[in-house]
Amino acid sequence: IVRYSNITKSYGDLEVIKGIDLDIAPGEKLAVIGPSGSGKTTLGRMLMTLEVPTSGTIELDGELLWHIRDKERLIRANEKHLHRMRGSVGMVFQHFNLFPHMNVLRNVTEAPRKVLGMSKEEAAESAVSMLRKVGLEDKLKMYPAQLSGGQKQRVAIARALVMRPKVMVFDEVTSALDPELVGEVLEVIREIAEEGEMAMMLITHEMDFAKEIADRVIFGADGRIVEQGTPEQIFDNPQSERLQSFLKRFR
Ligand code: ATP
Repeated sequence: IVRYSNITKSYGDLEVIKGIDLDIAPGEKLAVIGPSGSGKTTLGRMLMTLEVPTSGTIELDGELLWHIRDKERLIRANEKHLHRMRGSVGMVFQHFNLFPHMNVLRNVTEAPRKVLGMSKEEAAESAVSMLRKVGLEDKLKMYPAQLSGGQKQRVAIARALVMRPKVMVFDEVTSALDPELVGEVLEVIREIAEEGEMAMMLITHEMDFAKEIADRVIFGADGRIVEQGTPEQIFDNPQSERLQSFLKRFR
């Protein structure tokens, strides 16, 4: 469903992605682990079209999302395609990024109404069903500031799900939460993962969770994929010295 081919990304002089090839199969649950600053978030943001790669190609569902030969010749999928393709990817961020001036229901109905052109009633119906899925159907009229971090994150998950994406990027969605709120968010992600049909890119420092959920784990460092494999291979039998020392910090 996703194919990164020879992707690089620089911020000014800082090259954070140094040539990545990566495929994600439909329905696959991929965990991405690695040290802070290794480019994990950037990988997800390019798929969400929040960042432009510096070079390389990203395909989504068999169509070109980004195709960039060099800085002078930026070529990508035409805007009509892009609009539709953007809807195929959902992202949940570390810091929730909810609209603070909108209540929970509006936060979730905004994109289906604006992007998918749903009627108010139709959007509300989908939104309520997603909010029920994340256990928040009784909070429709609340504003983000009135919610706990775990609740905010569950609204953010419902907001992404309501677009029925083919791929969801979860970017360290529990790292800004108080420890006692982590569990409720992981539980929601676990349930979504079990439903199966959606591919997931789970950028995470929750190693136990990655081990439990993921079909495949990639370990990135310094802008490259250093090692990848099944959770058992990566966590129980790491090959590279880099990964071994990285994992020691979580034991
Ligand atoms: P973390 O685990 O801390 O979130 P990460 O692996 O997700 O890290 P990225 O967030 O992708 O890493 O960042 C990679 C590098 O790029 C970091 O050094 C970061 O400071 C830098 N960077 C990220 N976004 C920008 C930006 N918009 N402008 C300049 N530098 C950036």
